[in-house]
Formats: sequence, C-alpha cells, structure tokens
Amino acid sequence: CADAAMHEAKKLGRNSYHFFSSELDQQTRSRFQLTSLLQGALEKQEFQLFYQPKVCLKTGQVTGVEALLRWFSSELGEVSPSDFIPLAEDMGLIDTIGDWVMEAAIQQAVAWKQAGLSINVGVNVSARQFQRGNVAGRVIGLLNRYALEPQYFSIELTETSFMHSAEKTRSAISELLRLGVSVAIDDFGTGYSSLNYVRTLALSQLKIDLSFIRNIETSEKDRRLVEAMVAMAHAMDLEVIAEGVETPQQLDLLQRMGCDQGQGYYFSRPQPEETLTRWLQNRPLKC
Ligand code: C2E
Ligand code: MG
Ligand code: MG
Ligand code: MG
Repeated sequence: CADAAMHEAKKLGRNSYHFFSSELDQQTRSRFQLTSLLQGALEKQEFQLFYQPKVCLKTGQVTGVEALLRWFSSELGEVSPSDFIPLAEDMGLIDTIGDWVMEAAIQQAVAWKQAGLSINVGVNVSARQFQRGNVAGRVIGLLNRYALEPQYFSIELTETSFMHSAEKTRSAISELLRLGVSVAIDDFGTGYSSLNYVRTLALSQLKIDLSFIRNIETSEKDRRLVEAMVAMAHAMDLEVIAEGVETPQQLDLLQRMGCDQGQGYYFSRPQPEETLTRWLQNRPLKC
C-alpha cells in the first residue's frame, strides 16, 4: 500500500513528495540543489582563492602559501570546501574547478613575483584529477603560458590518490618532481598508508594532519606520535609541516621536536589576496 502511494506520488511529480519527506529526501534534495548551484558557480565567478602561509619554525621565514578554494554562492552564502569539494568530485566537476584553481594560483604567483614577493604557491589536487590523467601536462602548460618558474608552484595530494589511481598518480608526481615542482602529501596519517609511495618517490614534503596536532599539549600519546612522524619524515629526507598550529604552546612543542614548518591560525588564517599581500610585506620570505 505504501509502495502504491509512493508510486502515485512520483507520478504526480516532485511536489507530491513532501508527504513522504524523510531526512534522506531532504539530503537528496539539498545535494541536488547544491549540485545545480555548483554547476553555475564558475560562470558566475563565485569562486575565490584564499591563501594561508607556511612558516619555517627555525627562522620564522614564510616558505610558501597554500591556495584554499572559497565558494561565495549568491544563493547559499559561503559554502565550505569540505561540503562542496566532495560533491564536485562525485559530479565530475572537480576537473574544471581544479583547472581554474591551478590557473588562478599560478596567475597569483606571477603577480606576487612581479610585486617583489617571490613565493611558492601550492594547490590541492584531488584523487579524481589524477584519475583523469595529464595533471603534469596541465601544470607544465600553465607554467609555460604564464612564464612561471616551477620552484614557485607546488601541489598537495592526499593518500587517497594512490589508492584510486596509483599508476597515474605516481607517473604524474615523478614528472612534476623532475620538472622542479614540489609535491606534498597532505593530511598525512588519516588515509590508507602510503608509506610505500613516500619511500619510492622523491616527494618534497609531508604535512601532518591537524587532527594529530590538536591535542599535543594534553595528550602524551599524540605528542609521541607526532614526534615519530617527524623522525620518520626526516629519515626519508622529507620536510615535515604541521597543519593546524593554533597556540604558542603547540608551536613550542613542534619546534622542540624539530618539525620544519608550521601552518595554522596561530600564524594566519587563510586570507584573500589583498590582505595576505599586506601580511607578506611585513615578513621575511624564503625563496
Ligand atoms: P587541506 O588541504 O588539508 O587544508 C587545510 C584546512 O585546514 C583548510 O580548511 C584550512 O582553512 C584549515 N586550517 C588551517 N589552519 C587551521 C587551524 O589552525 N585550525 C583549524 N581548525 N583549521 C585550520 P578549508 O579551507 O576549509 O579546506 C578544507 C579542505 O578542502 C582542504 O584541506 C582540502 O582538502 C580541500 N580543498 C580546499 N581547496 C581545495 C581546492 O582548490 N582543490 C581541492 N581539490 N581541494 C581543496
Ligand atoms: Mg592542503
Ligand atoms: Mg591537510
Ligand atoms: Mg584536509
């Protein structure tokens, strides 16, 4: 009987659905709404890159910035990347969005360089983008088009990329590294172990996920774990960055562990280009 009623409701169209509206329907609907809005976001120029500095823990020099995508939707307001990036990946929109991110980041690196602020700009690349292939080719094409030296560009990928398209990811990374683009493993420790890739590829950096940093002041276990990650990274000649540094106490501990770099609200939140430019002007840069 319920099935027959549902069937009737479906025949009547979307508006009849509310009789059966469950939480799941709500979710499906908001996902549907989000998707259609996301499809129009590029064209409506609703995306913007924010930038967050990475800081050398020994010298205080700024070693680079990470580009973080922001979506200011005219309908929904600001939507978090944790909400729309996974959706963009599922809907096959991440390739187009990812291309936009790379181009915008490279243009910004060129603008900073021309303004005398030569600094490395890093972008996040999704597993799906590696799956499509030709990530290295796209990067090379853009660096050539904008005449930017590879040392001013870097990419961050998560361990998942190795899970879904190991060979494509591996060859793209080798090619980028050969070219002089630095490559970091992001959110290290949260995904499936990629130690084998870390061991066999000459990666540049390992970024310890902020969930490991959060409690290092209070949790002896977390502190020892981070210490071990730093030691492991160094054993493989990798630079190690702590994500999510928020307090001077965390900074102090990380410095004592010999962690190379830090990133987090303690130094700066992700900021739009204009304010970050002002922020950079008062800091020593490491080129
Ligand atoms: P992620 O690459 O690991 O970026 C770090 C996230 O931590 C950012 O969140 C950043 O704003 C946040 N964060 C930085 N410092 C602190 C801190 O001290 N405390 C806390 N609690 N958080 C901090 P955001 O910007 O919301 O981005 C979330 C994730 O979305 C990113 O994680 C990345 O995986 C993804 N993402 C962002 N932009 C892009 C993009 O252009 N392309 C792709 N594929 N993914 C992106
Ligand atoms: Mg990142
Ligand atoms: Mg991360
Ligand atoms: Mg993350």
